[in-house]
Amino acid sequence: TLSDRLTSVFSSLRGKGRLSEEDINATAREIRLALLEADVALPVVRSFIAQVKERAQGAEVSKALNPAQQVIKIVNEELVEILGGETREIRFAKTPPTVIMLAGLQGAGKTTLAGKLGRWLAAERNTPLLVAADLQRPNAVTQLQVVGERAGVPVFAPEPGNGVGDPVAVARASIEQARRNNHNVVVIDTAGRLGVDSEMMRQAADIRDAVQPDEILFVVDAMIGQDAVNTAQAFLDGVGYDAVALTKLDGDARGGAALSIRHITGRPIMFASTGEKLEDFDLFHPDRMASRILDMGDVLTLIEQAQRTFEEEEVAKMASTLASDDDFTLDDFLQQMAMVRRLGPISNLLGMMPGMGQMRDQIGNVDEKDLDRIAAIIQSMTPEERRTPKIINGSRRLRIANGSGTQVSDVNGLVTRFFEAQKMMRQMKNGGGMPGMPGMPG
Ligand code: GDP
Ligand code: MG
Repeated sequence: TLSDRLTSVFSSLRGKGRLSEEDINATAREIRLALLEADVALPVVRSFIAQVKERAQGAEVSKALNPAQQVIKIVNEELVEILGGETREIRFAKTPPTVIMLAGLQGAGKTTLAGKLGRWLAAERNTPLLVAADLQRPNAVTQLQVVGERAGVPVFAPEPGNGVGDPVAVARASIEQARRNNHNVVVIDTAGRLGVDSEMMRQAADIRDAVQPDEILFVVDAMIGQDAVNTAQAFLDGVGYDAVALTKLDGDARGGAALSIRHITGRPIMFASTGEKLEDFDLFHPDRMASRILDMGDVLTLIEQAQRTFEEEEVAKMASTLASDDDFTLDDFLQQMAMVRRLGPISNLLGMMPGMGQMRDQIGNVDEKDLDRIAAIIQSMTPEERRTPKIINGSRRLRIANGSGTQVSDVNGLVTRFFEAQKMMRQMKNGGGMPGMPGMPG
């Protein structure tokens, strides 16, 4: 697997401060292979690798993760990002019915998806209506009726008067029907051909123009691999669509098609279909697809665990400093800031330390720039000043301000803030404890 390969590429790397050009190239080669094996289109692979390289070059080797893990983490994050980051939700029309039109090749899974989508919408308190606007194949209408019955969702089908033989008329009539019967969503199933052809595109475009869908969903079979990209582009040019539904993800396909389509068309993937049964359907989750493409969900879990353990150790170290008998110094303060920075948003860190609500009030509204300034100020102090901040008088404050490129008022602010923090620490250590500090030794 990719993770095995990366691990061997990086086995020699532990303890290095930074990933070398060579290391990154070796990794890039492995990732490239993995993506191509997952059926990601070549131009997409290229641009993806370029992006990962750039990020990896800038990355410090982290203390929590070994280099292989770190690169995998970057690759995973970039994949999630490229796959759309967040899950895309349906945009409902201001005035119902919301019209959703399905387009795609024959066999892509449109009719099945109509049933799945109908069932899913109904479960979310909607009152959907499925519309049989595929009049190309003799049994297409019956198929939708069967699916609709199974899903417990009504189906609008051409009957005498509904516009027999004319999918545009059926689609148009279905909107009227939805208004009359208070269906808030209409899902229109359309015809597909085995290959992209202009007549099919024209029919889909005619239905589109007649009903002006709120969402056009391009339905595509993940198993068709590289072909998916060409088909996706042809439908984008011929009909246009707002989002993609990926089907047959239960097959062998690693889902590289998802990555390619998203990247090349710029359209988000909204739904994932993973089987023939109506329940085999969900919103598309970029993070799940990323681990599927990389084929290493377990490794990602391990990475998360490694990081969490590291953070917990750091927090425990800090907590024991706080609990020791020595007075809290500016060095401790600086160390605390540095740790806060490395671990991310202050509120996260404080969230991990039991009962640190008051601490959050002390340093909680500090932003990144503040932290830079605070570090500069403390670093401009002598060791004695850091240990015994009481001695920092007016002339020392001026010297420190000049040395750190800040204003005396900044130094004053920091010293005041420090004394408040120190007072709090003393109270904590004196065993009286503070309200809401159950986890801290008194
Ligand atoms: P349409 O021509 O686009 O309407 O495609 P259909 O909905 O008729 O589906 C074509 C075939 O693919 C049918 O046999 C479906 O049962 C099957 N199918 C649809 N979605 C999935 C899926 O997510 N997984 C699997 N394994 N089969 C699917
Ligand atoms: Mg069909």
